[in-house]
Amino acid sequence: MKIICIGRNYVSHAKELGNDIPNEPLFFLKPDTAIQPKGHPFFIPHFSNDIHYEVELVLKINKTGKHIEERFAHTYYDQIGLGIDFTARDIQEECKAKGLPWEKAKGFDGSAQIGRNFIDKAELELNNITFSLEKNREQVQLGNSKDMIFSFNKIIAHISKFYTLKISDLIYTGTPEGVGAVKSGDTLKGFIGEKEMFKVMVK
Ligand code: ZN
Repeated sequence: MKIICIGRNYVSHAKELGNDIPNEPLFFLKPDTAIQPKGHPFFIPHFSNDIHYEVELVLKINKTGKHIEERFAHTYYDQIGLGIDFTARDIQEECKAKGLPWEKAKGFDGSAQIGRNFIDKAELELNNITFSLEKNREQVQLGNSKDMIFSFNKIIAHISKFYTLKISDLIYTGTPEGVGAVKSGDTLKGFIGEKEMFKVMVK
């Protein structure tokens, strides 16, 4: 399986990092080894002094498809989860400044937190999903899918022009504003609505 992440899909987050608003979905990959083993703590990697959390709605692909038309894209996923796209912001900024790919800032081991449970999309109002992240019991991010620049269907249509989507691929759909650093001892909890989707300790 592969993990595809959308960057800059919320205006408020693009602005907080001083980025332009994209006119097509910006995406990058994480390897499957980025998946944080369930229930394990997140270990801050030794190569970074500025690891950020980015809470994101995650689509789980349920069939193989290529060149998927936007109007059929909704048939390629039926479950939505919640995860964190952990980012080594210092490494990312360094790479961006040099014009280098910033994959290593995004794809390191454990950089893809994913909740154990997914929610059937039939139970959700897709363009009005509230999700949030708490750090040490304080809410640090609050987002709603209605604020996405590119909808789930647009994202699937766009990615599938380049990559064949396969069963169990995950698509991280971008983070709202409020990203910030983690330190050892923090506890992060993610929610869709009131439902707790994951809890991870930072070590
Ligand atoms: Zn992200």
